[in-house]
Amino acid sequence: MPKMRAVQISRPGGPFELVEREIPQPGPGQVRIKVQACGICHSDALVKEGHWPGLQYPRVPGHEIVGIVDAVGAGVTQWTTGQRVGVGWHGGHCGGCDACRSGNFFGCTVALQITGISFDGGYADYLVAPAIAVAKVPDDLSPVEAAPLMCAGITTYNALRHSGARAGDLVAILGIGGLGHLGVQYAVKMGFKTVAIARGSDKEPLAKSLGAWRYLDSQAQDPAAELQKLGGARAILATVTQGDAMSAVQGGLGINGTLMVIGAAQSMQISPLVLINGRRSVKGWYSGTAIDSQDTMAFSVLSGVRSMNEVFPLEKAAEAYARMESGKARFRVVLTTGQ
Ligand SMILES: [Zn+2]
Ligand SMILES: [Zn+2]
Repeated sequence: MPKMRAVQISRPGGPFELVEREIPQPGPGQVRIKVQACGICHSDALVKEGHWPGLQYPRVPGHEIVGIVDAVGAGVTQWTTGQRVGVGWHGGHCGGCDACRSGNFFGCTVALQITGISFDGGYADYLVAPAIAVAKVPDDLSPVEAAPLMCAGITTYNALRHSGARAGDLVAILGIGGLGHLGVQYAVKMGFKTVAIARGSDKEPLAKSLGAWRYLDSQAQDPAAELQKLGGARAILATVTQGDAMSAVQGGLGINGTLMVIGAAQSMQISPLVLINGRRSVKGWYSGTAIDSQDTMAFSVLSGVRSMNEVFPLEKAAEAYARMESGKARFRVVLTTGQ
């Protein structure tokens, strides 16, 4: 049997292990993808540290995958070998339960699958994925450019376009990191009056170069008060992982404003009066399905939005993951297989 490289975690808290495995065969309704690039996401810590209930080990993480369709299983009609595709966080759903029949595929109660958690992900030369989880990648994007759009990109793009904000509205992006540097670009290109908020002043030149209209240093200024001076935000996209930073901006929401939460943070505090007076809301958003990934990539090609990436070869996955964890990467870390 032909072999491939894979990087797996064998137990919660265990190290990344570079192993040789048999190349998997696609079953009915599945495709096999020859991986070219896979982004490293903060959520890969769920596999590394064992924070996902019921996760089966060993597991290959990775849900920002771009590669070439290499084989298709029985019954797959929408994909053929040679197509360039991507797979993101949403790894499949049943299509028949009440949630799916309502179009709420993320809420599937029968067969919700998460890439790199329910089945082996993209830290490998090949993976097998459900055909329903696969997105077409445009020719205009290289594998390294496209990979981070499969989670960081889709999450920020999709949350912004469902935030209720319209062209010309004041929109704030809280946190300028892996998610936030994409969030600023998408917000600008969607026509929002975009305010970037981060701790310290060192990210101001970058935020401005990405098109931000204003920059707020949350250590030197009260971001909520400053947003109110600018008229109040129609939406604030919270990409940070600190609950207190999210709590601190709620007062910057304008009338009918929405705090869109996409960073997995510790608990935050919300004032009922802030919500009631001004009919404001707090809403969570998860990434999206394969067609949302396609929309994200198409918009990125159209508007020139790109992720800034640091690239490592697959065999240096442990080093690459540590770089992501350090918070020092500018801004996403991407593994490449050389294929
Ligand atoms: Zn992710
Ligand atoms: Zn379902």
